[in-house]
Amino acid sequence: MHPFVYERPASLSAAVAVASRSATRHPPTQAPAQFIAGGTNLADYMKLGVARPERLLDLNGLSEPALRRIETDGEGLRLGALVRMGDAAENAEIKRRYPVIAESLQLAASGQLRNMASLAGNILQRTRCEYFRETSWPCNKREPGSGCAAMDGFNRQHAVLGTSENCIATYHGDFAQALIALDATVHVQGHNGRRKILFASLHRLPEDSPHIETDLAPDEIVTAIEVPAGAWTRRSRYLKIRDRQSYAFALASAAVALDLDGETVNEARIALGGVATVPWRARAAEEILRGKVLDEAAAAAAAEAAFAEAQPRRHNAFKIELGKRTLIRGLLETRDMKV
Ligand SMILES: Cc1cc2nc3c(=O)[nH]c(=O)nc-3n(C[C@H](O)[C@H](O)[C@H](O)COP(=O)(O)OP(=O)(O)OC[C@H]3O[C@@H](n4cnc5c(N)ncnc54)[C@H](O)[C@@H]3O)c2cc1C
Ligand code: SF4
Repeated sequence: MHPFVYERPASLSAAVAVASRSATRHPPTQAPAQFIAGGTNLADYMKLGVARPERLLDLNGLSEPALRRIETDGEGLRLGALVRMGDAAENAEIKRRYPVIAESLQLAASGQLRNMASLAGNILQRTRCEYFRETSWPCNKREPGSGCAAMDGFNRQHAVLGTSENCIATYHGDFAQALIALDATVHVQGHNGRRKILFASLHRLPEDSPHIETDLAPDEIVTAIEVPAGAWTRRSRYLKIRDRQSYAFALASAAVALDLDGETVNEARIALGGVATVPWRARAAEEILRGKVLDEAAAAAAAEAAFAEAQPRRHNAFKIELGKRTLIRGLLETRDMKV
């Protein structure tokens, strides 16, 4: 492992000050100083030689209580950045009022990982692309301009939506799909002060710079995630399809939230996981459903719209059919929920 200095700042402002001192024009994932929370993603990539920070800023010493709080009221849900995945997954209010969030977390990783991993770390987790993880392969995300071994390599796990000619890596997280479906926002604090980012704008498409993964500056710390209340949050669920039923990333998943009048759709919120390079909101599918009776035909039409722009590679064309079926099932199961 590349040698590094370990620090445990006591407050947000102290952490930001250290990070901004060594901040450069690098994106956060290549900056000399990097934040660590649960470490389940970053420490893995440091051991593999993919991440090589010179300074590691451990956020677990931060004293601000709001970073560890879960709060719900009539306005919505507020999740501190250092809340552990397992605590949010088992929170009674989240299960009752935002089941899609609880399910997306319950179905992710393993019990041990969920106890260790933070919510902010989860949304910022990096891809599991095998060629990204193994440093002997060319990879534009790891080494800008080096090429993409996955294009002509084994790409069964790779994305069919949001790809570019430079990168087809899947965004593997589950929680992010629930957040983008529910119009979440992310609060950050950095050298230039505090700001709010729409969750839908946090992650960047790979386009011609796959190594720039988010809109964050290297000295910006995610402090909280906010989810607004809505008529659709209670009737919501997360369906995840994978190679084995536990402890595996999604091949395809659907986060669905519905506001129904009988069986007619007032509002639909849909996101797709396992199939895209970033958390993926399926707005065309939502548009098709608005004002329609939600039956199998309407769900199938929505699924067609969701994958209309999909671009398969040699080994991952199956994800298009799988993704459509996952969405159809997700929509019909959400319709039939007793709320
Ligand atoms: C075997 C295995 C299986 C897994 N399966 C799944 C799965 O099925 N579904 C799923 O969604 N995930 C899965 N994961 C990923 C896991 O959920 C993530 O590793 C975890 O959520 C990351 O959180 P962390 O707190 O450990 O992040 P860290 O490793 O501490 O950090 C991750 C990244 O976020 C940055 N960061 C962390 N906190 C902040 C902050 N507050 N502000 C700014 N930057 C920050 C770090 O600098 C780093 O770049 C799996 C992981 C493993 C190892
Ligand atoms: S798909 Fe992206 S992450 Fe994977 S090898 Fe290609 S450039 Fe790297």
